[in-house]
Amino acid sequence: MPEQRMLVNGKLVDAEGGRVFDNVNPATEEVIGVTADGSRADMERAVAAARAAFDTSDWARDHAGRKKALLQLQAAIEAEVEELRAELVAEVGCPVITTYGPQLDAPLKEALRWPADQIEQFPWSRALGEKDAFGMGYPSAREVWKEPVGVVGVVTPWNFPFEIALNKLGPILAMGNTCVLKPAPDTPWNTTRLGRLIAEHTDIPPGVVNIVPSSDHLVGEVLSTSPLVDMIAFTGSTVTGRRIMAAAAATVKPTFLELGGKSVNLVLDDADFAQAIPSAAMVCMHAGQGCAMPTRLLVPNSRYDEAIELARAAFEGVKYGDPTDPSVLQGPQVSKRQQERVLGYIETGRAEGARVVLGGGVPKDLDRGYFVEPTLFADVTPGMTIAQEEIFGPVLVVIGFEDDDDAVRIANDSVYGLSGVITSSDLDRAKSVARRIRTGTVGLNGGLWYGADAPFGGYKQSGIGRQCGIEGLEIFTETKTVGWPA
Ligand code: NAD
Repeated sequence: MPEQRMLVNGKLVDAEGGRVFDNVNPATEEVIGVTADGSRADMERAVAAARAAFDTSDWARDHAGRKKALLQLQAAIEAEVEELRAELVAEVGCPVITTYGPQLDAPLKEALRWPADQIEQFPWSRALGEKDAFGMGYPSAREVWKEPVGVVGVVTPWNFPFEIALNKLGPILAMGNTCVLKPAPDTPWNTTRLGRLIAEHTDIPPGVVNIVPSSDHLVGEVLSTSPLVDMIAFTGSTVTGRRIMAAAAATVKPTFLELGGKSVNLVLDDADFAQAIPSAAMVCMHAGQGCAMPTRLLVPNSRYDEAIELARAAFEGVKYGDPTDPSVLQGPQVSKRQQERVLGYIETGRAEGARVVLGGGVPKDLDRGYFVEPTLFADVTPGMTIAQEEIFGPVLVVIGFEDDDDAVRIANDSVYGLSGVITSSDLDRAKSVARRIRTGTVGLNGGLWYGADAPFGGYKQSGIGRQCGIEGLEIFTETKTVGWPA
């Protein structure tokens, strides 16, 4: 059964006034149930609970207790993993095949376990050595202590909601913080389920994790403005990220932002095109709703037509439709609004002179669900809107380049800097190009960088800070330097 209730101060509760909002299956357009519709007052109660839990419990210093609690949550999720899988497919519209990878199984394997294991190894203090800094005639011993930041406000999006929630909760809790998590209104149940599992199956103290869904995006703004919240950890669009930063400025809150992307799939002229180009159709996976997807295919002008034909064949082979069908790669966009947004970008592409090679509309064979055809654009120039803005749909734009320098220039001609893919028959050449691309992650020759131990985040307007890895633990800590007479 889906969990409709919020988690506030250790209790599963309804929203103020019993208000609820609909959860819609984007593949069928059916309302599949409701969720508690948290108000500002509900959010403020949750913030107060997180503050009290941080200030009055020993959670921040109980390393063994935190490890135990994270592993209890891990076991509780594993016990319900098949229900969770079906729920994700229903509310996110993600193809079930994606749940065996990044949507569920991949993060579940390590997003809690890895940070739990790091608690013991983390360098909570480091000695600086003795120093008589001001010539006082006696040296001081000095140490640097790492401590939790305090109360973290967490805001997550709808595209990989469980993956992102888990990769935030793991490090936040491992480092000894408390938090209030607001899931995206399109996909609340996987996160409210986490709330129930925390309440019923773990020793996580009341108030350490609070979960407040809401249909009103601005209820999340309480987290940015409240003086009781010490930090914001946000994943979502760059537009919202800017707004959160501005709102958090009043209380000088650190903002950890994982934002949008417009990453390249850069195929160098020596690459095996028959192998490299077809994989470009993976931008259709989960209807293109992934921040790190390489949605700009850069190919040498000398082999442009060959690349387009290979890409066309791959796009023709993309199976879209019912996300519960295990052979489907592409499900619906998450909402009518997102479907319209993607179709709007396709129209803009046409209007600016790009050529639709394939797709470009709503599939005629599907009479319900927010689907968009796999869409391939050729004759795209770097300045076009579809080459610059994040479409978040099953849309690939193909841009030609002259040589490696030109390819690097085009790749970096973006306000974003999240990820990228480079293919060459010469790994050293691929690496040297990778060093010149200003993004937070790069996959070379089909290699993957993903993992709970792998820092993920963006350069430029793709964000601030890194999720996962040692950097993703450190970001949830404060630094205290202490000294005493040696
Ligand atoms: P969004 O920015 O519209 O919403 C994200 C979350 O922010 C939702 O929970 C929403 O309710 C909340 N929100 C909106 N306004 C807010 C405000 N003023 N204060 C506090 N919270 C607010 O993004 P989305 O459409 O849900 O997700 C898609 C976007 O997320 C894409 O741009 C994608 O690239 C990005 N994304 C980035 C990463 C990454 O790690 N870099 C991962 C996944 C998605």
